[in-house]
Amino acid sequence: MTPSSSSGLKLGCIADDFTGATDLANNLVRSGMRVVQTIGVPTTPLTADVDAVVVALKSRTLPKAEAIAQSLEALKWLQAQGAEGQMAQIYFKYCSTFDSTPDGNIGPVTEALMNALDTDFTIATPAFPDNGRTVFKGYLFAGNVLLNESGMQNHPLTPMQDANLVRVMQAQTQRKVGLIDYKTVAQGEAAIRERISALRTEGVGVAIVDATSNADLLLLGPALKDMPLITAGSGVAIGLPTNFGLKPSLQASHLPAASGMQAVVSGSCSVATNAQVAHFKATGRPALAIDPASLMKGQSKAVVQQVLAWAAPLLKDGPVLVYSTAEPEAVKQVQAQLGVAEAGALVEHALAAVSRGLVDLGVQQLVVAGGETSGACVQALGIAQLQIGPQIDPGVPWCHSSSAAGGLHIALKSGNFGSDDFFTKAFGALQ
Ligand code: ADP
Repeated sequence: MTPSSSSGLKLGCIADDFTGATDLANNLVRSGMRVVQTIGVPTTPLTADVDAVVVALKSRTLPKAEAIAQSLEALKWLQAQGAEGQMAQIYFKYCSTFDSTPDGNIGPVTEALMNALDTDFTIATPAFPDNGRTVFKGYLFAGNVLLNESGMQNHPLTPMQDANLVRVMQAQTQRKVGLIDYKTVAQGEAAIRERISALRTEGVGVAIVDATSNADLLLLGPALKDMPLITAGSGVAIGLPTNFGLKPSLQASHLPAASGMQAVVSGSCSVATNAQVAHFKATGRPALAIDPASLMKGQSKAVVQQVLAWAAPLLKDGPVLVYSTAEPEAVKQVQAQLGVAEAGALVEHALAAVSRGLVDLGVQQLVVAGGETSGACVQALGIAQLQIGPQIDPGVPWCHSSSAAGGLHIALKSGNFGSDDFFTKAFGALQ
């Protein structure tokens, strides 16, 4: 970024996965910010004149030292883009279901960023009411049930077995964790600031914040105005642009016109994605399952070729679906056979190669389901930067990459986002 354009940069964001990055960028765009999302930490300065940059990492399930190193590298790059080497505010974005293990990476990355920014206090809240994620008395709900009853207790990589976020966060961090509860939030900025100052006096470094509605998030926003670091899901973003004098805007970003063939690649095993795969199949459209066991013993390349040979003649008639999406029991069996990380990596690599192959076959409108899966696909497609466009469902916008040959429209869907008919309606939303 040139010195003249960098002066406009207000918010520097670090997202721990790729779908989460577009989810955050989507909320910022809808609230009035001009946003660019980068895939990984760029090696060159940013040239666009924007209000916020979201650096998309794939650090959610990395070993924690690596997640910290990547996050600090992103921070350094973001700071270098800000006016006089300073960024007004840094936003660490994680999943609205707080996906992590007792090892991290939400806690360790938060602490590393606090140390680097020399700040003794930050908040943490995955609340995203538009998508049914609410925090009440420190407990995270997904829809009408507690997090650990929502299906997230069976997540292949980050099973969430406790909904109490104060406890979950405390297990991951050296800093003392506290709570800003719904009663305080309801009283607005002054009460929230007072609570923050009381918590600081008690030695609390990270406060989980209750929020059960967008109104709560809009009350929270002004109290975060001078906080060097915010950690949250994407929901908190709706209350931030006004701090910088920007007005919410419902006008979705304009993307280039869509053309080319259509496909869906799904590696998410979340409850919502299972329903979306079932819905797509029920419409009679072509769908092909990849069995993870078939990828073992160096068979991956051959399987990918078979998948592409299946897809090639079908694409001209409408969208095809390639999926490894499976119910929890099937996932557990595969993991017992291959190991959790190995199964994940094997499937991700295969689906990434499938997405690459589909684009080579002429697909220019691609939906990818699954955070980790999206990370692998975007990397395989060599995408460096994404422009954020119209929203399909809360948290999932269409994006456009001009770096892919001929341009590519791509939607990165986090596991539990989207209605049952997401895979069919997404393409309609582009027309
Ligand atoms: P979500 O957004 O739903 O969490 P992700 O893509 O982030 O989805 O995570 C799903 C993980 O499960 C990925 O690592 C993926 O490769 C792996 N996976 C996908 N299908 C299967 C399967 N059938 N068996 C075991 N693991 C799978």
